[in-house]
Amino acid sequence: MKSAQLPTPCYVVDEALIEKNLEILAGVMNRTGAKILLAQKAFSFYTLYPLIGRVLCGATASGLYEARLCAEEMAVPLAREGKKVENHIFSPAYREKDFEEILRYCEHIVFNSWRQVEKFGLRAKGAGKSIGLRINPECSTQETHAIYDPCAPGSRLGVTAENFRVRPDSGEDAISSDILSCLDGLHFHTLCEQNSDDLEKTLDAVEEQFGAYLPGMKWINFGGGHHITRADYDIPRLERCIRRMQEKYGLTVYLEPGEAVALNAGFLVTTVLETLHNGTDIAILDTSAACHMPDVLEMPYRPPLEGSGEPGEKAYTYRLSGPTCLAGDIIGEYSFEEPLKEGDRLVFEDMAIYSMVKNNTFNGMPLPAIVLRRKDGECVMVKEFGYEDFKGRLS
Ligand SMILES: *Cc1c(COP(=O)(O)O)cnc(C)c1O
Repeated sequence: MKSAQLPTPCYVVDEALIEKNLEILAGVMNRTGAKILLAQKAFSFYTLYPLIGRVLCGATASGLYEARLCAEEMAVPLAREGKKVENHIFSPAYREKDFEEILRYCEHIVFNSWRQVEKFGLRAKGAGKSIGLRINPECSTQETHAIYDPCAPGSRLGVTAENFRVRPDSGEDAISSDILSCLDGLHFHTLCEQNSDDLEKTLDAVEEQFGAYLPGMKWINFGGGHHITRADYDIPRLERCIRRMQEKYGLTVYLEPGEAVALNAGFLVTTVLETLHNGTDIAILDTSAACHMPDVLEMPYRPPLEGSGEPGEKAYTYRLSGPTCLAGDIIGEYSFEEPLKEGDRLVFEDMAIYSMVKNNTFNGMPLPAIVLRRKDGECVMVKEFGYEDFKGRLS
């Protein structure tokens, strides 16, 4: 299939663009010895897990299902090629009924509190796993996206320096307890679409507050939110941050970006269903912000659209909106050289990340098909969805 023949709406993931991102990440790993994992929550396009796993060291999961997906779709195919990938997991709170299965898939397990380490960590340790604790360095480095700031006051994510020393659940001194000596690593995740200057600031805070414990650890995980594959990302500074932890404390450094793996590597193709006018020109598309690009409303952000301009920049400005009943199902204002008409195709860019993993069938909206554009430009239909996918999760 060629792009023009694709049914809409559909997500198109471009293999060559994913490879380009992977090459950049491989460069960081090769020059520094850091280990980079795919954070599946941003991009669970498992058709490409073998390709991703050949380059990266493995994947990280937010819970049992992602851990199993990595086991099935990355670890198994790569084991056949003789490569062992790492399967990591972090959850704010594990469930007893999931934990035995998690132990089967994951060899790195990160906990969010001392209580969780006590409940599950010692068991994991007994099963030969590498265990870590997520810390909160209380160092906010961005204000643009407050909902993505785990360092904000009252955060549930990560143990603060104060709670690291004295456990709030028991009032006991944590440092003197055996449980500290069980930890293999520390994990922090505080960034969102950020550059390495913010990582550097965060590392200063981590060292200031947790530096005393670092020599006792085997590894440190810098989390995600590193926009490494963005054109203006300062890679040499990232590599200095990695070396600092390696050289000063002898630590293995992990990074687990989601976005950076598939940044600018996917599209959402949509068709104009109708146009109308109410003080402003409006186009109704066959794709919905609420259902197919929820971060547009949640984050919020304005996705780039091929061939369009800012409102007023080109001759014809439209408010692009979805076909649901939600008044706020608006993707944004975009301008075009020509008036839009029924049947026109529009291509939203940077739609691989946090899209397929977050979509839903609100209003009975169909889910977009999933397409892979191979390196030769040929488009392969990976999956199509229908009525049964809507009905199947309701009763
Ligand atoms: C979200 C998340 C990531 C990935 O973040 P990106 O912004 O997609 O790079 C990595 N680790 C943890 C713990 C996360 O919550």
